[in-house]
Amino acid sequence: MPLRRRHANRIGLLAAAAIFVVIGVGVVMGAQRFIGDANRVSHTNEVIALIGAIEAHLRDGESAQRGYLLTADVDYLADYRRSRGELPELLAQLQQLVRDNPDQSRLALAWKLEIERRLGQMDATLGNYATGGLPSAQRSIGQEARRTSGALRAQARQLVANERQLLVERADSSRNSATLLRALALLGIPLGLAIIGVVYTLLVGEIRRRARAEDAGDEARAQLLDNIDALERQGADLNELSRYGGMLQSCVSVEEAVGLATQYFSRLLPDAGGTLYRVRASQDYAEEVAHWGEHALSGPAMFPLQDCWALRRGQPHVHRAHHELLPCAHVTTPSLNATPTYVCVPLIAQGTQLGLLYLSGHDDAFLARMDLVKTAAEQLSMALSSLELQSRLRVQSIREPLTGLFNRRYLEESLARELARCERRHMPLGLMMLDLDHFKRFNDVHGHAGGDALLAEFGRLLQALSRDEDIACRYGGEEFTLILPEADPITVQARAEAIRAGVEGMRALHLGQELPHVTVSIGVAMFPQHGGLGETLLRQADAALYRAKHAGRNRVETAANDVAVVQAVAP
Ligand code: GH3
Ligand code: MG
Ligand code: MG
Repeated sequence: MPLRRRHANRIGLLAAAAIFVVIGVGVVMGAQRFIGDANRVSHTNEVIALIGAIEAHLRDGESAQRGYLLTADVDYLADYRRSRGELPELLAQLQQLVRDNPDQSRLALAWKLEIERRLGQMDATLGNYATGGLPSAQRSIGQEARRTSGALRAQARQLVANERQLLVERADSSRNSATLLRALALLGIPLGLAIIGVVYTLLVGEIRRRARAEDAGDEARAQLLDNIDALERQGADLNELSRYGGMLQSCVSVEEAVGLATQYFSRLLPDAGGTLYRVRASQDYAEEVAHWGEHALSGPAMFPLQDCWALRRGQPHVHRAHHELLPCAHVTTPSLNATPTYVCVPLIAQGTQLGLLYLSGHDDAFLARMDLVKTAAEQLSMALSSLELQSRLRVQSIREPLTGLFNRRYLEESLARELARCERRHMPLGLMMLDLDHFKRFNDVHGHAGGDALLAEFGRLLQALSRDEDIACRYGGEEFTLILPEADPITVQARAEAIRAGVEGMRALHLGQELPHVTVSIGVAMFPQHGGLGETLLRQADAALYRAKHAGRNRVETAANDVAVVQAVAP
Protein backbone atom coordinates (compact mmCIF):
# COMPACT_ATOMS: atom_id res chain seq x y z
CA MET A 1 0.00 0.00 0.00
CA PRO A 2 1.52 3.35 -0.96
CA LEU A 3 2.48 5.49 2.04
CA ARG A 4 0.35 8.47 0.95
CA ARG A 5 -2.83 6.43 0.69
CA ARG A 6 -2.20 4.83 4.09
CA HIS A 7 -1.75 8.32 5.59
CA ALA A 8 -4.96 9.57 3.93
CA ASN A 9 -6.89 6.64 5.43
CA ARG A 10 -5.44 7.22 8.88
CA ILE A 11 -6.08 10.98 8.79
CA GLY A 12 -9.62 10.39 7.50
CA LEU A 13 -10.37 7.96 10.32
CA LEU A 14 -8.89 10.33 12.92
CA ALA A 15 -10.90 13.26 11.52
CA ALA A 16 -14.11 11.21 11.58
CA ALA A 17 -13.39 10.11 15.16
CA ALA A 18 -12.63 13.72 16.20
CA ILE A 19 -15.85 14.95 14.62
CA PHE A 20 -17.87 12.32 16.47
CA VAL A 21 -16.07 13.13 19.74
CA VAL A 22 -16.90 16.84 19.23
CA ILE A 23 -20.53 15.94 18.45
CA GLY A 24 -20.68 13.68 21.51
CA VAL A 25 -19.16 16.29 23.81
CA GLY A 26 -21.46 18.93 22.27
CA VAL A 27 -24.49 16.74 22.84
CA VAL A 28 -23.53 16.04 26.48
CA MET A 29 -22.80 19.70 27.13
CA GLY A 30 -25.95 20.82 25.33
CA ALA A 31 -28.04 18.32 27.28
CA GLN A 32 -26.49 19.50 30.55
CA ARG A 33 -27.13 23.07 29.58
CA PHE A 34 -30.73 22.13 28.73
CA ILE A 35 -31.23 20.51 32.08
CA GLY A 36 -29.58 23.48 33.83
CA ASP A 37 -31.71 25.97 31.88
CA ALA A 38 -34.87 23.97 32.61
CA ASN A 39 -33.98 23.84 36.29
CA ARG A 40 -33.35 27.54 36.34
CA VAL A 41 -36.62 28.31 34.50
CA SER A 42 -38.60 26.29 37.02
CA HIS A 43 -36.60 27.95 39.78
CA THR A 44 -37.47 31.40 38.40
CA ASN A 45 -41.11 30.43 38.09
CA GLU A 46 -40.97 29.18 41.66
CA VAL A 47 -39.48 32.50 42.79
CA ILE A 48 -42.14 34.47 40.89
CA ALA A 49 -44.85 32.26 42.34
CA LEU A 50 -43.41 32.69 45.83
CA ILE A 51 -43.28 36.49 45.39
CA GLY A 52 -46.92 36.34 44.26
CA ALA A 53 -47.79 34.21 47.33
CA ILE A 54 -46.04 36.60 49.68
CA GLU A 55 -47.81 39.57 48.07
CA ALA A 56 -51.12 37.66 48.33
CA HIS A 57 -50.53 36.86 52.01
CA LEU A 58 -49.63 40.50 52.65
CA ARG A 59 -52.69 41.65 50.79
CA ASP A 60 -54.85 39.10 52.64
CA GLY A 61 -53.34 40.29 55.93
CA GLU A 62 -53.99 43.96 55.08
CA SER A 63 -57.59 43.37 54.03
CA ALA A 64 -58.27 41.11 57.11
CA GLN A 65 -56.75 43.84 59.32
CA ARG A 66 -58.91 46.46 57.59
CA GLY A 67 -62.01 44.22 57.98
CA TYR A 68 -61.33 43.76 61.66
CA LEU A 69 -60.81 47.50 62.20
CA LEU A 70 -64.09 48.23 60.42
CA THR A 71 -66.22 45.38 61.79
CA ALA A 72 -64.42 44.32 64.96
CA ASP A 73 -65.14 40.81 63.78
CA VAL A 74 -62.61 38.56 65.43
CA ASP A 75 -62.63 36.17 62.42
CA TYR A 76 -60.89 38.97 60.50
CA LEU A 77 -58.39 39.23 63.24
CA ALA A 78 -57.84 35.47 63.08
CA ASP A 79 -57.38 35.69 59.27
CA TYR A 80 -54.92 38.55 59.76
CA ARG A 81 -52.93 36.55 62.24
CA ARG A 82 -52.82 33.43 59.99
CA SER A 83 -51.64 35.40 56.97
CA ARG A 84 -49.14 37.33 59.04
CA GLY A 85 -47.94 34.13 60.73
CA GLU A 86 -47.21 32.39 57.42
CA LEU A 87 -45.26 35.31 55.95
CA PRO A 88 -41.93 34.83 57.82
CA GLU A 89 -41.76 31.23 56.58
CA LEU A 90 -42.47 32.33 52.96
CA LEU A 91 -39.94 35.13 53.19
CA ALA A 92 -37.35 32.70 54.50
CA GLN A 93 -38.11 30.41 51.51
CA LEU A 94 -37.65 33.33 49.13
CA GLN A 95 -34.40 34.22 50.80
CA GLN A 96 -33.31 30.63 50.32
CA LEU A 97 -34.36 30.50 46.67
CA VAL A 98 -32.52 33.63 45.57
CA ARG A 99 -29.39 33.16 47.61
CA ASP A 100 -27.37 32.18 44.45
CA ASN A 101 -28.20 35.56 42.89
CA PRO A 102 -26.60 38.36 44.91
CA ASP A 103 -28.69 41.16 43.33
CA GLN A 104 -31.97 39.34 43.92
CA SER A 105 -30.74 38.24 47.34
CA ARG A 106 -30.11 41.84 48.29
CA LEU A 107 -33.42 42.98 46.86
CA ALA A 108 -35.28 40.12 48.61
CA LEU A 109 -33.67 41.09 51.93
CA ALA A 110 -34.72 44.73 51.46
CA TRP A 111 -38.24 43.56 50.56
CA LYS A 112 -38.33 41.34 53.63
CA LEU A 113 -37.28 44.26 55.89
CA GLU A 114 -39.88 46.45 54.27
CA ILE A 115 -42.55 43.77 54.76
CA GLU A 116 -41.53 43.37 58.39
CA ARG A 117 -41.77 47.14 58.77
CA ARG A 118 -45.22 47.01 57.18
CA LEU A 119 -46.27 44.19 59.50
CA GLY A 120 -44.93 46.21 62.43
CA GLN A 121 -47.08 49.18 61.31
CA MET A 122 -50.18 46.97 61.06
CA ASP A 123 -49.49 45.43 64.46
CA ALA A 124 -49.13 48.98 65.89
CA THR A 125 -52.45 50.06 64.29
CA LEU A 126 -54.15 47.02 65.85
CA GLY A 127 -52.59 47.96 69.24
CA ASN A 128 -53.96 51.50 68.89
CA TYR A 129 -57.36 50.05 67.96
CA ALA A 130 -57.35 47.90 71.10
CA THR A 131 -56.54 50.85 73.33
CA GLY A 132 -58.16 53.85 71.62
CA GLY A 133 -60.79 52.35 69.27
CA LEU A 134 -61.16 52.99 65.59
CA PRO A 135 -60.28 56.74 65.68
CA SER A 136 -56.96 55.98 67.35
CA ALA A 137 -56.32 53.24 64.81
CA GLN A 138 -57.20 55.51 61.88
CA ARG A 139 -54.72 58.07 63.10
CA SER A 140 -51.99 55.58 63.28
CA ILE A 141 -52.56 54.66 59.60
CA GLY A 142 -50.67 57.58 58.31
CA GLN A 143 -48.48 58.71 55.47
CA GLU A 144 -45.72 56.26 56.30
CA ALA A 145 -48.04 53.25 55.97
CA ARG A 146 -49.01 54.27 52.46
CA ARG A 147 -45.38 54.94 51.50
CA THR A 148 -44.38 51.48 52.83
CA SER A 149 -47.15 49.80 50.86
CA GLY A 150 -46.02 51.60 47.68
CA ALA A 151 -42.39 50.65 48.24
CA LEU A 152 -43.43 47.08 48.91
CA ARG A 153 -45.24 46.82 45.59
CA ALA A 154 -42.37 48.50 43.74
CA GLN A 155 -39.90 46.08 45.30
CA ALA A 156 -42.09 43.08 44.43
CA ARG A 157 -42.37 44.27 40.83
CA GLN A 158 -38.61 44.75 40.71
CA LEU A 159 -38.04 41.23 42.03
CA VAL A 160 -40.47 39.74 39.52
CA ALA A 161 -39.08 41.88 36.69
CA ASN A 162 -35.56 40.69 37.55
CA GLU A 163 -36.73 37.07 37.54
CA ARG A 164 -38.50 37.55 34.20
CA GLN A 165 -35.33 39.06 32.79
CA LEU A 166 -33.45 35.96 33.95
CA LEU A 167 -36.12 33.80 32.34
CA VAL A 168 -35.62 35.58 29.00
CA GLU A 169 -31.85 35.20 29.29
CA ARG A 170 -32.21 31.54 30.13
CA ALA A 171 -34.57 30.94 27.26
CA ASP A 172 -32.02 32.62 24.94
CA SER A 173 -29.25 30.46 26.29
CA SER A 174 -31.41 27.40 25.90
CA ARG A 175 -32.20 28.39 22.29
CA ASN A 176 -28.51 28.94 21.61
CA SER A 177 -27.75 25.51 23.01
CA ALA A 178 -30.42 23.96 20.80
CA THR A 179 -29.12 25.85 17.75
CA LEU A 180 -25.58 24.74 18.49
CA LEU A 181 -26.72 21.15 18.95
CA ARG A 182 -28.71 21.26 15.73
CA ALA A 183 -25.76 22.77 13.88
CA LEU A 184 -23.49 20.11 15.29
CA ALA A 185 -25.90 17.38 14.27
CA LEU A 186 -26.69 18.86 10.86
CA LEU A 187 -23.08 19.53 9.92
CA GLY A 188 -21.10 17.09 12.01
CA ILE A 189 -23.03 13.88 11.42
CA PRO A 190 -23.14 14.15 7.58
CA LEU A 191 -19.52 15.34 7.53
CA GLY A 192 -18.42 12.48 9.80
CA LEU A 193 -20.46 10.01 7.77
CA ALA A 194 -19.03 11.41 4.55
CA ILE A 195 -15.48 11.05 5.86
CA ILE A 196 -16.23 7.50 7.06
CA GLY A 197 -17.72 6.79 3.62
CA VAL A 198 -14.61 8.10 1.89
CA VAL A 199 -12.34 6.12 4.23
CA TYR A 200 -14.52 3.04 3.75
CA THR A 201 -14.32 3.42 -0.05
CA LEU A 202 -10.55 3.90 0.17
CA LEU A 203 -10.22 0.86 2.42
CA VAL A 204 -12.43 -1.32 0.22
CA GLY A 205 -10.41 -0.20 -2.80
CA GLU A 206 -7.25 -0.93 -0.90
CA ILE A 207 -8.47 -4.38 0.16
CA ARG A 208 -9.46 -5.16 -3.42
CA ARG A 209 -6.13 -3.89 -4.68
CA ARG A 210 -4.35 -6.05 -2.13
CA ALA A 211 -6.42 -9.08 -3.03
CA ARG A 212 -5.64 -8.43 -6.69
CA ALA A 213 -1.97 -7.93 -5.88
CA GLU A 214 -1.98 -11.16 -3.88
CA ASP A 215 -3.68 -12.99 -6.75
CA ALA A 216 -1.20 -11.51 -9.18
CA GLY A 217 1.59 -12.49 -6.78
CA ASP A 218 0.28 -16.06 -6.58
CA GLU A 219 -0.02 -16.16 -10.34
CA ALA A 220 3.46 -14.76 -10.79
CA ARG A 221 4.82 -17.28 -8.27
CA ALA A 222 3.11 -20.16 -10.06
CA GLN A 223 4.32 -18.79 -13.38
CA LEU A 224 7.83 -18.53 -12.03
CA LEU A 225 7.74 -22.12 -10.76
CA ASP A 226 6.40 -23.24 -14.14
CA ASN A 227 9.15 -21.30 -15.86
CA ILE A 228 11.79 -22.86 -13.63
CA ASP A 229 10.34 -26.30 -14.37
CA ALA A 230 10.26 -25.52 -18.07
CA LEU A 231 13.84 -24.22 -17.95
CA GLU A 232 14.99 -27.32 -16.10
CA ARG A 233 13.16 -29.50 -18.61
CA GLN A 234 14.63 -27.49 -21.47
CA GLY A 235 18.08 -27.78 -19.93
CA ALA A 236 17.69 -31.55 -19.61
CA ASP A 237 16.30 -31.74 -23.17
CA LEU A 238 19.17 -29.70 -24.57
CA ASN A 239 21.64 -31.81 -22.66
CA GLU A 240 20.09 -34.96 -24.08
CA LEU A 241 19.98 -33.42 -27.57
CA SER A 242 23.60 -32.42 -27.37
CA ARG A 243 24.60 -35.93 -26.20
CA TYR A 244 22.58 -37.42 -29.02
CA GLY A 245 24.16 -35.01 -31.55
CA GLY A 246 27.65 -35.81 -30.29
CA MET A 247 27.06 -39.55 -30.48
CA LEU A 248 25.51 -39.23 -33.95
CA GLN A 249 28.69 -37.60 -35.20
CA SER A 250 30.67 -40.56 -33.93
CA CYS A 251 28.48 -43.18 -35.61
CA VAL A 252 30.38 -45.29 -38.10
CA SER A 253 27.41 -46.66 -40.03
CA VAL A 254 23.97 -45.62 -41.15
CA GLU A 255 22.50 -48.52 -39.13
CA GLU A 256 24.14 -47.27 -35.98
CA ALA A 257 22.84 -43.73 -36.57
CA VAL A 258 19.33 -45.04 -37.21
CA GLY A 259 19.49 -47.14 -34.00
CA LEU A 260 20.62 -44.12 -32.00
CA ALA A 261 17.87 -41.90 -33.48
CA THR A 262 15.30 -44.59 -32.66
CA GLN A 263 16.40 -44.59 -29.04
CA TYR A 264 16.46 -40.81 -28.83
CA PHE A 265 13.00 -40.25 -30.33
CA SER A 266 11.37 -43.00 -28.30
CA ARG A 267 12.75 -41.41 -25.11
CA LEU A 268 11.90 -37.87 -26.18
CA LEU A 269 8.30 -38.75 -27.11
CA PRO A 270 7.26 -41.74 -25.00
CA ASP A 271 3.59 -41.22 -25.95
CA ALA A 272 4.13 -41.17 -29.72
CA GLY A 273 5.00 -43.89 -32.18
CA GLY A 274 7.64 -43.26 -34.81
CA THR A 275 8.88 -44.67 -38.09
CA LEU A 276 12.06 -43.77 -39.89
CA TYR A 277 12.09 -44.05 -43.69
CA ARG A 278 15.10 -43.85 -45.97
CA VAL A 279 14.68 -42.45 -49.45
CA ARG A 280 16.05 -44.94 -51.96
CA ALA A 281 19.07 -43.94 -54.06
CA SER A 282 16.73 -43.83 -57.05
CA GLN A 283 14.80 -41.04 -55.23
CA ASP A 284 11.45 -42.67 -55.99
CA TYR A 285 10.36 -44.55 -52.83
CA ALA A 286 10.69 -44.14 -49.09
CA GLU A 287 11.48 -47.42 -47.29
CA GLU A 288 10.96 -48.11 -43.59
CA VAL A 289 14.23 -48.73 -41.77
CA ALA A 290 13.11 -48.53 -38.14
CA HIS A 291 10.04 -47.99 -36.00
CA TRP A 292 9.36 -47.58 -32.28
CA GLY A 293 6.65 -46.86 -29.72
CA GLU A 294 2.92 -47.14 -30.23
CA HIS A 295 1.61 -45.43 -33.35
CA ALA A 296 -1.90 -44.00 -33.44
CA LEU A 297 -1.67 -45.07 -37.07
CA SER A 298 1.36 -46.82 -38.53
CA GLY A 299 2.25 -46.12 -42.14
CA PRO A 300 3.15 -48.56 -44.93
CA ALA A 301 6.63 -50.10 -45.10
CA MET A 302 7.22 -48.36 -48.41
CA PHE A 303 5.51 -45.56 -50.33
CA PRO A 304 6.23 -43.23 -53.28
CA LEU A 305 7.76 -39.90 -52.28
CA GLN A 306 4.88 -37.92 -53.74
CA ASP A 307 2.52 -39.51 -51.17
CA CYS A 308 3.97 -37.29 -48.45
CA TRP A 309 3.34 -33.55 -48.17
CA ALA A 310 6.55 -33.09 -46.18
CA LEU A 311 8.70 -34.79 -48.86
CA ARG A 312 6.93 -32.88 -51.60
CA ARG A 313 7.35 -29.50 -49.95
CA GLY A 314 10.70 -30.17 -48.29
CA GLN A 315 9.47 -29.00 -44.89
CA PRO A 316 7.86 -30.53 -41.79
CA HIS A 317 4.16 -31.27 -42.12
CA VAL A 318 1.95 -31.27 -39.01
CA HIS A 319 -1.55 -32.75 -39.24
CA ARG A 320 -3.87 -32.40 -36.24
CA ALA A 321 -6.65 -34.91 -35.61
CA HIS A 322 -10.04 -33.81 -37.04
CA HIS A 323 -8.29 -31.26 -39.20
CA GLU A 324 -10.08 -30.20 -42.34
CA LEU A 325 -7.10 -30.37 -44.68
CA LEU A 326 -6.13 -33.43 -46.65
CA PRO A 327 -3.66 -35.72 -44.86
CA CYS A 328 -0.68 -37.36 -46.58
CA ALA A 329 -1.59 -40.25 -48.89
CA HIS A 330 0.69 -42.62 -46.95
CA VAL A 331 -1.42 -41.97 -43.82
CA THR A 332 -4.48 -43.84 -45.00
CA THR A 333 -7.62 -44.01 -42.89
CA PRO A 334 -11.17 -44.96 -43.83
CA SER A 335 -12.29 -41.38 -43.18
CA LEU A 336 -10.74 -37.98 -42.76
CA ASN A 337 -12.13 -37.79 -39.21
CA ALA A 338 -10.24 -40.93 -38.22
CA THR A 339 -6.87 -39.42 -39.16
CA PRO A 340 -4.83 -39.03 -35.99
CA THR A 341 -2.42 -36.25 -35.13
CA TYR A 342 0.80 -36.96 -36.96
CA VAL A 343 3.97 -35.24 -38.08
CA CYS A 344 6.20 -35.88 -41.08
CA VAL A 345 9.68 -34.36 -40.89
CA PRO A 346 11.75 -34.70 -44.06
CA LEU A 347 15.40 -35.60 -43.59
CA ILE A 348 17.20 -33.34 -46.02
CA ALA A 349 20.89 -32.48 -46.27
CA GLN A 350 22.77 -30.58 -48.96
CA GLY A 351 19.49 -30.32 -50.88
CA THR A 352 19.14 -34.11 -51.08
CA GLN A 353 16.20 -35.98 -49.59
CA LEU A 354 17.60 -38.73 -47.43
CA GLY A 355 14.56 -39.91 -45.54
CA LEU A 356 11.50 -39.10 -43.48
CA LEU A 357 10.63 -39.14 -39.81
CA TYR A 358 6.97 -40.02 -39.27
CA LEU A 359 5.44 -39.59 -35.78
CA SER A 360 1.85 -40.18 -34.68
CA GLY A 361 0.11 -39.99 -31.30
CA HIS A 362 -3.29 -40.48 -29.74
CA ASP A 363 -3.28 -36.82 -28.68
CA ASP A 364 -1.51 -33.57 -29.53
CA ALA A 365 0.83 -33.63 -26.51
CA PHE A 366 3.90 -34.65 -28.45
CA LEU A 367 3.57 -31.60 -30.73
CA ALA A 368 4.83 -29.47 -27.80
CA ARG A 369 8.31 -30.86 -28.43
CA MET A 370 8.39 -30.21 -32.16
CA ASP A 371 11.33 -27.83 -31.87
CA LEU A 372 13.45 -30.58 -30.40
CA VAL A 373 12.14 -33.08 -32.94
CA LYS A 374 13.08 -30.77 -35.82
CA THR A 375 16.56 -30.12 -34.44
CA ALA A 376 17.15 -33.82 -33.78
CA ALA A 377 15.90 -34.63 -37.29
CA GLU A 378 18.29 -32.05 -38.75
CA GLN A 379 21.16 -33.59 -36.84
CA LEU A 380 20.13 -37.03 -38.06
CA SER A 381 19.98 -35.72 -41.65
CA MET A 382 23.47 -34.31 -41.38
CA ALA A 383 24.77 -37.51 -39.82
CA LEU A 384 23.13 -39.67 -42.52
CA SER A 385 24.46 -37.42 -45.25
CA SER A 386 27.95 -37.50 -43.84
CA LEU A 387 27.85 -41.28 -43.30
CA GLU A 388 26.64 -41.80 -46.85
CA LEU A 389 29.35 -39.55 -48.16
CA GLN A 390 31.95 -41.40 -46.11
CA SER A 391 30.67 -44.72 -47.34
CA ARG A 392 30.67 -43.48 -50.94
CA LEU A 393 34.20 -42.17 -50.57
CA ARG A 394 35.28 -45.42 -48.96
CA VAL A 395 33.74 -47.40 -51.79
CA GLN A 396 35.33 -45.06 -54.29
CA SER A 397 38.68 -45.44 -52.61
CA ILE A 398 38.62 -49.24 -52.58
CA ARG A 399 36.46 -50.11 -55.56
CA GLU A 400 36.86 -49.29 -59.18
CA PRO A 401 33.83 -47.97 -60.94
CA LEU A 402 33.55 -50.01 -64.15
CA THR A 403 33.25 -53.47 -62.61
CA GLY A 404 32.46 -52.57 -59.01
CA LEU A 405 35.28 -54.83 -57.90
CA PHE A 406 37.97 -53.86 -55.38
CA ASN A 407 40.94 -51.95 -56.79
CA ARG A 408 44.56 -52.94 -56.79
CA ARG A 409 45.47 -50.92 -53.70
CA TYR A 410 42.76 -52.69 -51.74
CA LEU A 411 43.95 -56.01 -53.12
CA GLU A 412 47.47 -55.46 -51.83
CA GLU A 413 46.21 -54.37 -48.39
CA SER A 414 43.79 -57.24 -48.02
CA LEU A 415 46.16 -59.87 -49.40
CA ALA A 416 48.70 -59.00 -46.71
CA ARG A 417 45.98 -58.95 -44.03
CA GLU A 418 44.35 -62.24 -45.10
CA LEU A 419 47.71 -63.97 -45.43
CA ALA A 420 48.64 -62.93 -41.89
CA ARG A 421 45.27 -64.13 -40.61
CA CYS A 422 45.50 -67.50 -42.37
CA GLU A 423 49.04 -67.93 -41.20
CA ARG A 424 47.98 -67.24 -37.65
CA ARG A 425 45.17 -69.75 -37.86
CA HIS A 426 47.21 -72.28 -39.85
CA MET A 427 44.80 -72.07 -42.72
CA PRO A 428 45.57 -72.09 -46.47
CA LEU A 429 44.80 -69.31 -48.92
CA GLY A 430 44.29 -69.40 -52.65
CA LEU A 431 45.14 -66.68 -55.16
CA MET A 432 44.01 -66.52 -58.81
CA MET A 433 45.24 -64.23 -61.57
CA LEU A 434 42.70 -64.02 -64.39
CA ASP A 435 43.31 -62.47 -67.81
CA LEU A 436 40.80 -62.31 -70.66
CA ASP A 437 42.12 -63.91 -73.82
CA HIS A 438 42.81 -61.80 -76.90
CA PHE A 439 41.11 -58.86 -75.37
CA LYS A 440 43.06 -56.41 -77.45
CA ARG A 441 41.52 -57.97 -80.50
CA PHE A 442 38.04 -57.87 -78.90
CA ASN A 443 38.54 -54.19 -78.27
CA ASP A 444 39.61 -53.63 -81.80
CA VAL A 445 36.51 -55.33 -83.17
CA HIS A 446 33.85 -54.04 -80.72
CA GLY A 447 35.39 -50.76 -79.68
CA HIS A 448 36.51 -49.66 -76.26
CA ALA A 449 32.90 -49.28 -75.05
CA GLY A 450 32.13 -52.82 -76.09
CA GLY A 451 35.27 -53.93 -74.25
CA ASP A 452 34.07 -52.02 -71.18
CA ALA A 453 30.67 -53.72 -71.31
CA LEU A 454 32.41 -57.08 -71.40
CA LEU A 455 34.68 -56.12 -68.50
CA ALA A 456 31.64 -55.03 -66.44
CA GLU A 457 29.87 -58.30 -67.19
CA PHE A 458 32.99 -60.26 -66.24
CA GLY A 459 33.10 -58.28 -62.94
CA ARG A 460 29.52 -59.33 -62.18
CA LEU A 461 30.28 -62.94 -62.99
CA LEU A 462 33.37 -62.98 -60.80
CA GLN A 463 31.37 -61.46 -57.94
CA ALA A 464 28.58 -63.97 -58.43
CA LEU A 465 30.96 -66.91 -58.34
CA SER A 466 32.70 -65.63 -55.19
CA ARG A 467 31.90 -66.44 -51.55
CA ASP A 468 31.34 -63.59 -49.10
CA GLU A 469 34.81 -63.97 -47.67
CA ASP A 470 36.49 -63.94 -51.11
CA ILE A 471 37.99 -60.69 -52.37
CA ALA A 472 37.59 -60.06 -56.10
CA CYS A 473 39.73 -57.29 -57.54
CA ARG A 474 40.48 -55.66 -60.86
CA TYR A 475 44.24 -55.80 -60.97
CA GLY A 476 44.45 -53.55 -64.01
CA GLY A 477 43.22 -53.48 -67.63
CA GLU A 478 41.62 -56.86 -68.35
CA GLU A 479 43.51 -58.62 -65.55
CA PHE A 480 41.74 -59.67 -62.34
CA THR A 481 42.67 -61.22 -59.03
CA LEU A 482 40.64 -63.36 -56.65
CA ILE A 483 41.76 -64.01 -53.07
CA LEU A 484 40.21 -67.10 -51.46
CA PRO A 485 41.03 -67.12 -47.73
CA GLU A 486 40.93 -70.52 -46.03
CA ALA A 487 40.38 -72.35 -49.34
CA ASP A 488 42.44 -75.50 -49.94
CA PRO A 489 44.17 -76.19 -53.33
CA ILE A 490 41.49 -78.58 -54.54
CA THR A 491 38.71 -76.14 -53.80
CA VAL A 492 40.66 -73.32 -55.41
CA GLN A 493 41.30 -75.50 -58.46
CA ALA A 494 37.60 -76.34 -58.70
CA ARG A 495 36.56 -72.69 -58.27
CA ALA A 496 39.03 -71.60 -60.96
CA GLU A 497 37.62 -74.19 -63.31
CA ALA A 498 34.08 -73.03 -62.52
CA ILE A 499 35.03 -69.44 -63.36
CA ARG A 500 36.70 -70.46 -66.58
CA ALA A 501 33.60 -72.38 -67.58
CA GLY A 502 31.40 -69.50 -66.45
CA VAL A 503 33.23 -67.08 -68.76
CA GLU A 504 32.69 -69.45 -71.65
CA GLY A 505 28.99 -69.29 -71.04
CA MET A 506 28.96 -65.53 -70.27
CA ARG A 507 26.65 -63.35 -72.38
CA ALA A 508 27.41 -59.66 -72.45
CA LEU A 509 25.15 -57.06 -74.09
CA HIS A 510 26.31 -53.87 -75.69
CA LEU A 511 23.96 -51.38 -77.38
CA GLY A 512 21.28 -54.05 -77.38
CA GLN A 513 23.59 -56.46 -79.18
CA GLU A 514 24.92 -59.63 -77.66
CA LEU A 515 28.72 -59.59 -77.72
CA PRO A 516 30.61 -62.68 -78.88
CA HIS A 517 31.90 -65.18 -76.34
CA VAL A 518 35.28 -64.73 -74.77
CA THR A 519 37.53 -66.98 -72.73
CA VAL A 520 39.76 -66.45 -69.76
CA SER A 521 43.09 -67.87 -68.65
CA ILE A 522 43.72 -68.37 -64.94
CA GLY A 523 46.92 -68.82 -62.98
CA VAL A 524 46.64 -70.18 -59.41
CA ALA A 525 49.06 -69.91 -56.48
CA MET A 526 48.55 -71.31 -53.00
CA PHE A 527 49.66 -70.28 -49.56
CA PRO A 528 51.71 -71.69 -48.08
CA GLN A 529 52.89 -74.02 -50.90
CA HIS A 530 53.94 -71.24 -53.34
CA GLY A 531 54.96 -68.47 -50.97
CA GLY A 532 54.25 -66.65 -47.74
CA LEU A 533 54.30 -63.05 -49.05
CA GLY A 534 51.59 -61.46 -51.16
CA GLU A 535 54.13 -60.26 -53.65
CA THR A 536 55.56 -63.78 -54.06
CA LEU A 537 52.13 -65.31 -54.45
CA LEU A 538 51.14 -62.71 -57.05
CA ARG A 539 54.29 -63.38 -58.99
CA GLN A 540 53.70 -67.14 -58.79
CA ALA A 541 50.09 -66.78 -59.96
CA ASP A 542 51.18 -64.46 -62.75
CA ALA A 543 53.76 -67.00 -63.84
CA ALA A 544 51.11 -69.72 -63.85
CA LEU A 545 48.85 -67.42 -65.89
CA TYR A 546 51.69 -66.88 -68.36
CA ARG A 547 51.98 -70.60 -68.69
CA ALA A 548 48.23 -70.92 -69.27
CA LYS A 549 48.43 -68.35 -72.07
CA HIS A 550 51.28 -70.23 -73.67
CA ALA A 551 49.54 -73.52 -73.26
CA GLY A 552 46.77 -72.25 -75.51
CA ARG A 553 44.59 -70.00 -73.26
CA ASN A 554 41.11 -70.75 -71.83
CA ARG A 555 42.66 -72.91 -69.10
CA VAL A 556 43.74 -72.99 -65.47
CA GLU A 557 47.39 -73.42 -64.47
CA THR A 558 48.72 -73.76 -60.95
CA ALA A 559 52.06 -72.45 -59.82
CA ALA A 560 54.94 -74.90 -59.88
CA ASN A 561 55.51 -76.80 -56.65
CA ASP A 562 59.23 -76.31 -56.55
CA VAL A 563 58.93 -72.66 -55.46
CA ALA A 564 59.85 -71.96 -51.82
CA VAL A 565 57.46 -73.57 -49.41
CA VAL A 566 57.33 -71.67 -46.16
CA GLN A 567 55.26 -73.98 -44.09
CA ALA A 568 53.45 -77.21 -44.73
CA VAL A 569 49.79 -77.09 -43.91
CA ALA A 570 47.42 -79.97 -44.08
CA PRO A 571 44.65 -79.24 -46.61
P1 GH3 B 1 46.15 -62.12 -74.30
O1 GH3 B 1 45.24 -63.19 -74.65
O2 GH3 B 1 47.59 -62.50 -74.46
O3 GH3 B 1 45.95 -61.56 -72.97
O4 GH3 B 1 45.91 -61.04 -75.36
P2 GH3 B 1 45.40 -59.65 -75.05
O5 GH3 B 1 44.95 -58.99 -76.30
O6 GH3 B 1 44.40 -59.69 -74.01
O7 GH3 B 1 46.71 -58.99 -74.60
P3 GH3 B 1 47.05 -57.67 -73.80
O8 GH3 B 1 47.11 -57.96 -72.36
O9 GH3 B 1 48.32 -57.16 -74.42
O10 GH3 B 1 45.93 -56.67 -74.13
C1 GH3 B 1 45.19 -56.05 -73.17
C2 GH3 B 1 44.27 -55.09 -73.80
O11 GH3 B 1 43.22 -54.77 -72.93
C3 GH3 B 1 44.95 -53.79 -74.09
C4 GH3 B 1 43.93 -52.75 -73.89
O12 GH3 B 1 43.51 -52.18 -75.07
C5 GH3 B 1 42.78 -53.46 -73.29
N1 GH3 B 1 42.36 -52.81 -72.17
C6 GH3 B 1 43.03 -52.55 -71.00
N2 GH3 B 1 42.25 -51.89 -70.11
C7 GH3 B 1 41.05 -51.69 -70.74
C8 GH3 B 1 39.86 -51.07 -70.38
O13 GH3 B 1 39.71 -50.57 -69.29
N3 GH3 B 1 38.85 -51.08 -71.25
C9 GH3 B 1 38.95 -51.65 -72.46
N4 GH3 B 1 37.94 -51.66 -73.27
N5 GH3 B 1 40.05 -52.22 -72.85
C10 GH3 B 1 41.12 -52.28 -72.00
MG1 MG C 1 46.57 -58.64 -70.26
MG1 MG D 1 44.59 -60.51 -72.15
